[in-house]
Amino acid sequence: MTASDHAATSALFISDLHLQPSQPRTTAAFLDFMDGRAIHAQRLYLLGDLFEYWAGDDDIDDPYHRHIIAAIRRVSDAGVAVFWIAGNRDFLVGARFAQAAGLTLLAEPHVADIAGQRVVLVHGDAQCTEDAKYMEFRAMVRQPAWQTQFTALPLAQRKAIIAGMRENSRKDQGDKTMEIMDVTPQAIADVHAQSGARIMIHGHTHRPALHRAGDTLRYVLPDWEPDATPPRGGWIAIGSDGAITRHALDGAVIA
Ligand code: MN
Repeated sequence: MTASDHAATSALFISDLHLQPSQPRTTAAFLDFMDGRAIHAQRLYLLGDLFEYWAGDDDIDDPYHRHIIAAIRRVSDAGVAVFWIAGNRDFLVGARFAQAAGLTLLAEPHVADIAGQRVVLVHGDAQCTEDAKYMEFRAMVRQPAWQTQFTALPLAQRKAIIAGMRENSRKDQGDKTMEIMDVTPQAIADVHAQSGARIMIHGHTHRPALHRAGDTLRYVLPDWEPDATPPRGGWIAIGSDGAITRHALDGAVIA
């Protein structure tokens, strides 16, 4: 990639890295992306589930978290505008994290005008409306009152509760995760209609694709698993000419 390619990148989008210390290859791929690609873009959008889980902003001093936050901060300090939309695993990220990482928290759906393209951005979990049990859980944990109460618990206790919930969810659904659910056409149509944006970018479902329906385009980001066969991961870019491209982990454009 040349310097002019970098300058030509208006925005980059990633999601669903599920970063955790037990996945060093994914962590390394993220650091490569941040220092090699993101640092040269005008904007970077983190569209949810960057972390496998986030127990609260008082966990930013954890050495692994400091490492990740420093990588985001380097990009931000280089002059890239960095934005965050919460995922279903890291929705407890708050103002303290945002300040440390030098990023801006966005509420979803978020409409952005980038290089002449109007795009609506969501994580994607709120559009999986057929999963009634999850939608109920989401409505609960996204309430400020619930979050105030939960984050008042000691950090170790919160981590134990989250580990228990993840274990229960695994038992409940066999080897499936909640990402097995897909978005519903109606929920997607509602986001397009309410935002007035023809183009949507989201993650969550781990089903990377470009969907065309009527005059709408829906880009779905991949999750990141460099050790899988074939390796999973990658990003979406919007060039300064407004062209939207999907990229594999090695940067190759996906047709
Ligand atoms: Mn998710």
